Amino acid sequence: MAVPGRTPEGAPVGLVETELFSVDAYVRGFETAVRSVDREQGRVALRRTAFYPGGGGQPHDVGTLRWDGGSGVVTRVARDREDPGTIWHWLDVEGSADDLPGEGAEAHGELDWARRHLTMRTHTALHILCGVIWADHRVAVTGGNMDPGKGRLDFPLPSMSAEFGRSVEARINEEIAATREILVEFVGRDVADEDHALIRTAANLIPREIDPLRVIDIVGLDKQADGGTHVLSTAEVGRVVVTGTESKGKGNKRVRLEVVDPDR
Ligand SMILES: [Zn+2]
Repeated sequence: MAVPGRTPEGAPVGLVETELFSVDAYVRGFETAVRSVDREQGRVALRRTAFYPGGGGQPHDVGTLRWDGGSGVVTRVARDREDPGTIWHWLDVEGSADDLPGEGAEAHGELDWARRHLTMRTHTALHILCGVIWADHRVAVTGGNMDPGKGRLDFPLPSMSAEFGRSVEARINEEIAATREILVEFVGRDVADEDHALIRTAANLIPREIDPLRVIDIVGLDKQADGGTHVLSTAEVGRVVVTGTESKGKGNKRVRLEVVDPDR
């Protein structure tokens, strides 16, 4: 079970030791060391990091990095294009590139947690939307995007209306009220490729070399291969408001949502 501070079963050791966000979304501060420094680009790679590098529609994290004798604002995080195992952290430091930390320097990273947690709630809300649309209409998501607090998804539905949006909003909030547990699992490819819930979300199209697959399971509602960060229970999402419904053409309908606090 994905309890904060506990590693999900079957998590590859390499990830557990380096990509903290993939095994525990609730790590907001961490000790690390600088692995390499790119002074030209003003960025560093760390031995381990909790900063999400962006991907799957989820934006990268921001925050701060402190080291002996200096600190910087982490303004952007991304995987290296040629070497996806390397995650770069762009640092805004006072002074020049000489003020970046040195290779091997011990450091402490701290996420902008308010932004990250809101993003986790938003990402989870979008999975609930997928689950609800599948349960009620048997169509799978075709695209989407998110910012902290709001997101959108497209579905190959025959029609779309404000009325439909209101009923989807009610269904999402029902699933939030149901307090469904959300698990992070690492599933072997042979098992994943036989799992009907994963097949319908096209997990079988992910390259075979990726084994095991990281799976986010909203128990009883939605299961998908996913690299992003999510909350532990649907209740933690708060409340969802559907803010827009649009037709983007024949067979392509868009739902926009926002995540708000439950008492709003
Ligand atoms: Zn996702």
